[in-house]
Amino acid sequence: MEKLIFATGNAHKMVEIRMILSNLGMEILSQKEAGITADIVEDGTTFEENAMIKATGIREIAAKNQEYENCIVLADDSGLEIDYLNKEPGIYSARYMGEDTSYDIKNRELLRRLEGVPDKKRTARFVCAIAAAFPNGETKVVRGTMEGRIGYEIAGENGFGYDPIFYLPEYGCASAELAPEKKNELSHRGEGLRKMRRIIEEVQREGKGV
Ligand code: IMP
Repeated sequence: MEKLIFATGNAHKMVEIRMILSNLGMEILSQKEAGITADIVEDGTTFEENAMIKATGIREIAAKNQEYENCIVLADDSGLEIDYLNKEPGIYSARYMGEDTSYDIKNRELLRRLEGVPDKKRTARFVCAIAAAFPNGETKVVRGTMEGRIGYEIAGENGFGYDPIFYLPEYGCASAELAPEKKNELSHRGEGLRKMRRIIEEVQREGKGV
């Protein structure tokens, strides 16, 4: 069976990835399951660049092992863009205020920075770039987004990261208040993964790159 490695150590992401990519008929492995411990430095300036750096870096390492020579490597990079803050925290979403700072503190600080800002200027989006590195050296990158607004308070227990302050006007709640299945259906990562699935299906049909 052809193999696909997803360059992440995040178990929550792997559940979503396996669900969305299951119909490809490929064996889906996390980076850890493929025995790759390397951490690639994401020093790009966009989500796309960072995802691409990770996918090609891990693909290079994977290819050294005969078992993974012909695998496809996927990687993602995601974050929150707040328009009023010039798209901060953006690609620095995980590192905003320090990697070890709790999201409760990060979220409260963002709410403070938006104090007094009216609804129509509170627009924001989650972005997820997904890159693929194919065995023939080709690469592809796609972007998924979820549009919303920064709310006025912390709300909800589901999700992670910035979900408690990300308000979805059409649903009248924060993304941390959505059921996990609904979040996956609407999420930036879900959209990016479904776009990437179509690209891999095309590559499989044409019999190239894999
Ligand atoms: P990464 O793609 O794992 O590097 O994620 C970057 C950061 O973006 C995460 O640590 C979160 O802070 C934020 N983020 C990405 N996706 C989501 C989401 O769906 N909900 C909340 N925060 C997110």
